[in-house]
Amino acid sequence: MPKPSRAALLLAVMLPLTGCGSRYEPPRPPPRLSPDVCLAQLGQFNVKYVKEDAPEGRCPIYDSVRVSATGVPLSRPALMSCDLALKIEKFTREVVVPQAQARFHQGVREIIHFGTYSCRGRPGGEWSEHAKGNAIDIAGFKLADGTVISVKQDWNPRGPKRDFLRAVAKGACGVFSMVLTPETNSDHANHLHLDIGAWRKCDV
Ligand SMILES: [Zn+2]
Repeated sequence: MPKPSRAALLLAVMLPLTGCGSRYEPPRPPPRLSPDVCLAQLGQFNVKYVKEDAPEGRCPIYDSVRVSATGVPLSRPALMSCDLALKIEKFTREVVVPQAQARFHQGVREIIHFGTYSCRGRPGGEWSEHAKGNAIDIAGFKLADGTVISVKQDWNPRGPKRDFLRAVAKGACGVFSMVLTPETNSDHANHLHLDIGAWRKCDV
């Protein structure tokens, strides 16, 4: 068997490292609020939650809560870090609700999501932000009149639903560190991935 060239070997080493960006070392994660401060803020902003620990195992969550509403009800209660709950509340209040009011002249009844906490890794070997309760996958939104705006159905066809989804995703980039959308790859064809990890990306 021919010996692989030095360039090929170097490429094989570099590829997994460059998969998530051009830097080899991940940047330092953003600072977290202390549990007391964070929980007090959840109460102040009317986030509906109960304190709940992550299942014991390899994926602990720093300061975890099970959240049922962030100003708007979630389609089902979700386990997450307190810091993520605060960011989703800010995103709901500053981006989602104003966009729905401006474009459809009504409020939002529900944030439809696929999940938050999941003890799993990424293909690159690093733990996903979902494994820390720091990410949510949003499938769509239900407006007050029952209209559903779905990432899967409405991201591409021209019209007000597409414009709403793209405006919401763009607004999310001002709140979260990473915003992945159907523009990112086919893994995200049906949801917006929003997280508060160290890496920054805005795929809108
Ligand atoms: Zn995700």
